[in-house]
Formats: sequence, C-alpha cells, structure tokens
Amino acid sequence: MAHLGMSGQLLVQQADIPAQRHLRVLLELDAPNDLRFVDQRMFGGVWVSDGGAELPTEVAAIALDPLDPAFDEDAVVARIRKSSSGIKRLLLNQNVVSGIGNIYADEALWSAQVHGERPGNRIKSADVRRVLTAARDVMIAALAQGGTSFDALYVNVEGDSGYFERSLEAYGREGEPCSRCGSALVRAQFMNRSSYFCPVCQRRR
Ligand SMILES: [Zn+2]
Repeated sequence: MAHLGMSGQLLVQQADIPAQRHLRVLLELDAPNDLRFVDQRMFGGVWVSDGGAELPTEVAAIALDPLDPAFDEDAVVARIRKSSSGIKRLLLNQNVVSGIGNIYADEALWSAQVHGERPGNRIKSADVRRVLTAARDVMIAALAQGGTSFDALYVNVEGDSGYFERSLEAYGREGEPCSRCGSALVRAQFMNRSSYFCPVCQRRR
C-alpha cells in the first residue's frame, strides 16, 4: 500500500540509475527495472498490509473514485444531499468520493457553475450530478495530459510531468477573466488552502 502524500513519487527506473537523494523504499522488479518510492517531505509512505487480495483495512473506508466502473453515482448524490457541509468540502472528503483534490474540485465546480460553499442539502440533485459529471470529465481530460504538475515533484512513474495546468479554467487564475463570462476570477481561503471561482457564474445564494 502506498500513499504519495504531498511530494511522494513512485518511479519505475532502470536498476543501474543511481539512488535519488530522497529515495526511501526500493523494490526490485524483473530486470532491468526497479520501483522506487522517492519522497522529499515524508508525508507519504509505503506499508505492507496483511490480507493479500483483500482490501486493506487501512483503506477500506475510502470511497470509490468517479472513474471506477463500480462508482454508484445515485448513492453519492444522495449522500451529498443529506449533508449541510459545503459541496467542495464534500468533494474532498475521501469517505464520500475519492480522487478529487483541490484543483479538480475547483475545476468541476467552475464547469458545473456551482459555488463550493453551497451546502449539499441545498443543491438540486441534477446540479450535484452535473458537478460529479464535470469532475469525471476534468479528471479524464487531465489524465490524457499526464495530470497537473505545478512543480517537478508531480510526475508519473516514468518521471514525466503532466501538462493539464495549461487547461485549467479556475484553479490558480485569480484576477484572470472567466472564459465563460469574462468576469475576473477570485480566490478565497479554504481549509488552509485556496479556492478559485467565478463570482458571476458560481453564485453562492
Ligand atoms: Zn464566469
């Protein structure tokens, strides 16, 4: 079981490549490669969990992500609509739906034109569904471009950066025009991080 934390990398590399400075775990694969867990800041980790093919108990509470074929959209919509928490907070709650981080939550909410602070129980189910569909769409588009790499730490197993930041509509674009309505996008504090949204397309109400 592995968790990348904020800065971890899993790299498949030729075994004769010298060890990285922050190499923490090295797993030997069939020649010529090995699998390396490299982590500069140690928020991530690699564990051995008993149970073989069973889902490890440590991750059993984590919900499916929207790209999983078994993702139960009706159940997730119902769960979101039972909660008085803001929809963005719910999107980031890995027990409700996994795989959506701060960047893709902002992109999905911008795309669906929903304000992230709106309580789940105050949003129509069709709108919650549009948010989940938008999250799925943005994740598929981001995967096709290798993800979003704001710095050299965010790489795939071959060590390559992703290019999705060029396609971001909301995240990181404070003061820039909304591509839908032209209004200046704004940034707000959100759980020690930032939220980016369009104050016109995404009404808080
Ligand atoms: Zn707008």
